[in-house]
Amino acid sequence: MRPCCFFEEKLGSVATHSLPDVVEGEEFRKLRRELVTGELRPNCRSCSARPLIDRGAFEKKLFGYLESERQRLGPPIAKG
Ligand code: SF4
Repeated sequence: MRPCCFFEEKLGSVATHSLPDVVEGEEFRKLRRELVTGELRPNCRSCSARPLIDRGAFEKKLFGYLESERQRLGPPIAKG
């Protein structure tokens, strides 16, 4: 599986894993972390689709999602 048609690497396979396992797997998590932090790998840095995305709208959507998840899951459980 690839996250988009511009991406050259495979980040998992549904031939050997379930779709949720691939999408929630470490490779996709790593890519999402890179996209959110802006620490892009070369493939994403040179991606021709990047100018199509409104960064402000993306951030608003992302933070809205994170806030809804925070409310859905409740406060974090303290360790120790
Ligand atoms: S930046 Fe481009 S190559 Fe990277 S995941 Fe997004 S659309 Fe795909």
